[in-house]
Amino acid sequence: MKLGEKLKLTKPKTKQSESQKVTFSPSEATEIARDLDGKSAEDVILWASNTFGERLVLSTSFQITGMVILDMLSKIAPETRVITLDTGRLPKATYDLIDEVQDQYDITIEVQYPDSSELKKIVMKHGINMFYKSYSLRLLCCEKRKLDPLNNALSDVDAWITGLTRHQGGTRTDTPKITIDHKHNNIAKISPIADWDNEMVWKYIKNNNVPYNTLYDQGYTSIGCDPCTRPIEKNEDDRSGRWWWEQGMPKECGIHFTAKAD
Ligand code: SF4
Repeated sequence: MKLGEKLKLTKPKTKQSESQKVTFSPSEATEIARDLDGKSAEDVILWASNTFGERLVLSTSFQITGMVILDMLSKIAPETRVITLDTGRLPKATYDLIDEVQDQYDITIEVQYPDSSELKKIVMKHGINMFYKSYSLRLLCCEKRKLDPLNNALSDVDAWITGLTRHQGGTRTDTPKITIDHKHNNIAKISPIADWDNEMVWKYIKNNNVPYNTLYDQGYTSIGCDPCTRPIEKNEDDRSGRWWWEQGMPKECGIHFTAKAD
C-alpha cells in the first residue's frame, strides 16, 4: 500500500483486532504530515484510528484542547484508550472534571501515577514544594510526576494523540499534525488540531456542549498542577500562568519538548 492510499481514510492494512506494530520512517512521517496538514481534525483522527487501531491512545490533561479531541474521538473512534497523569498536585477542579468526563462519555480513563518510592526520595531530599527552589528542581519534579509515568504509559503503543496547537506559541509554533516522537521510542505523535486557534477551540466546546475545567472561568488559560499554575493578566500570553515565577525559561515540563536545567 502506498502512503497516499493510507490517507484516503479507507480500511487500514492493520486491523484493530491485530496487535501488529505500526511504524513510519521519518521520511514517511514527513510525507504524511504534509498531506494531513490540509485535513480536518476529524479526518486526522479517523486516519489515526484506522492506521493504529488499538495501539493508539489519547493523552490528555483535560485542558480545552484535549477536551475537543476527546469529544471528537467519542464520535469517531470511541474505543480509543484515554490516559491522563495524576501528578498528585492537580487542582480540585481538574479532578472534578475527570469524574464528569468519565460519567458523561461513559469511558474509563486510565489514570497514571508517579512511582511512589521515587517521589518519596526526591520529596525527602528537596521538600514537597521543591519546584519553587530552582529550575532544575522544578524539572526534577516534572520528571518524576509527569514524564516517567507518561513514558510507562506510552511504552506499549504505536501512536499518541495530543491537543497541541501552534497557536500556543513558544516551542509549539511549528507543531506538525504527525511527527515521529523520538522522546518516546519513535512512536507517532498526532496533533489533529495543530492548526486551530483559541477561538476555534472555544467555538467547538460551546457548540458541542463539551464539559471544561471551571478554572477557565476564573482567568486561567492553561491549566497544569495547582501550585504551578495561576490565572493570567490581560495581554499576557496563554501559557504565562504556568511556572509564573520562572523568567526566560520555556513554559514546558519536558513532555513535548526537551527542557534542560542548563
Ligand atoms: S507542574 Fe509543578 S507540581 Fe506538577 S509536576 Fe511539574 S513542578 Fe511538579
